[in-house]
Amino acid sequence: MSFQMTESLETIYQEIIRKNPGETEFHQAVREVLESLGPVLVKYPEFLQNKIIRRICEPERQIIFRVPWVDDRGEVHINRGFRVEFNSALGPYKGGLRFHPSVYLGIIKFLGFEQIFKNALTGLPIGGGKGGSDFDPKGKSDAEVMRFCQSFMTELYRHIGEHTDVPAGDIGVGGREIGYLFGQYKRITNRYEMGVLTGKGMAYGGSLVRTEATGYGAVFFVDEMLKVNKQSFEGKTCTVSGSGNVAIYTIEKIHQLGGKVVAISDSDGVIVHEKGIHLQTVQQLKEIERRRIKDYADIHKDAKYIPKGNIWEIPCQVAMPSATQNEINGKDAEKLVKNGCIAVGEGANMPTTPEGVRVFQTAKIAYGPGKATNAGGVATSALEMQQNASRDSWTFEYTEKRLAKIMSNIHQVCYETAEEFGAPGDYVVGANIAGFVKVAKAMLAMGLI
Ligand code: GLU
Repeated sequence: MSFQMTESLETIYQEIIRKNPGETEFHQAVREVLESLGPVLVKYPEFLQNKIIRRICEPERQIIFRVPWVDDRGEVHINRGFRVEFNSALGPYKGGLRFHPSVYLGIIKFLGFEQIFKNALTGLPIGGGKGGSDFDPKGKSDAEVMRFCQSFMTELYRHIGEHTDVPAGDIGVGGREIGYLFGQYKRITNRYEMGVLTGKGMAYGGSLVRTEATGYGAVFFVDEMLKVNKQSFEGKTCTVSGSGNVAIYTIEKIHQLGGKVVAISDSDGVIVHEKGIHLQTVQQLKEIERRRIKDYADIHKDAKYIPKGNIWEIPCQVAMPSATQNEINGKDAEKLVKNGCIAVGEGANMPTTPEGVRVFQTAKIAYGPGKATNAGGVATSALEMQQNASRDSWTFEYTEKRLAKIMSNIHQVCYETAEEFGAPGDYVVGANIAGFVKVAKAMLAMGLI
């Protein structure tokens, strides 16, 4: 359910479209939040008087820069780099870097906007930001990726810092890239500032569980939604789109909880393995050899590869979109519901189109939006910052317990907020309102910022 937008919310939304032309993903992310806020403005008229919504929708700072680099053959390339420092009411800007050819300002702004509320929901002291580049890491050598990262950081370093802005990974940015970025930051600044980046390797200040955190956290969140309906993952058939970091650790945790993942994908096609996806094979192919998922079917002869296939046509009880934005449209959502899907947990950011969300909500299935469901990644980044600040490192077991507790708190806060505002079971309303109110109250307390 979304509430009818009141005239003033509609006016604000139209103004945002006008001021940010062509940034369709950003418009979509803003609209989804504004559609939840009607009853909030009734309870807190001071938010409207102080123009809090307009202020939240305008990033505090937007940085766009040139990233020149040379490939292995000596050819020069120019990419565009971004860092959008969206909101620092709750803490230093925090959010990942995405390296993907589809990146432009509209993508970074939608991600940064979502990040504000996601980070607020974690209950940890982190503001919202996002960055990245239209650089395509696919097919690049390690040396090319290193040169690109060094060039990217040569501009970015002046904008970030452990108390200012703390980037991490997202699509196309994992442990390898964070290592190169950290090395260059250290070299330029002559400071061993551990807390400036998260997702670091264990050899130099990383946190255990950070690698697994987004996937594990998403499964913990869905588990909480299932518990409300006296269900669990035990014996459930699941599909997980994507085959990157989020997908891999989503599969691992689902299998640990007794569910079975029967399909995964990449941008070329879908692998269906009725016996259950063999995780080590996926890890070997994707994490170590950086190959395509198609090769899975050469290793497991009983698995089927569907080139250009649509994973949402594969029947499942739990679907976990963990690839990218707008990967489930209205038709896909209808197909999922028709095939008996009872829960959807978004490991990716905004993977369901507004039409798709409407289908899930009309069917009253448990639907966990990304900003709540996938908050475990950034939450564990905040735990990494905490360990860095105290020059400590925690055990895997302890860190995972902290993550599980954070996810159950997020679930509870979303669930209770949805009830309070008259939309029981609606995690979209719960997440948007709970995240927004926390940030809005902090902003009000700090005066006109
Ligand atoms: N990119 C992740 C996200 O979308 C993690 C960000 C971080 O750890 O700062 O939340």
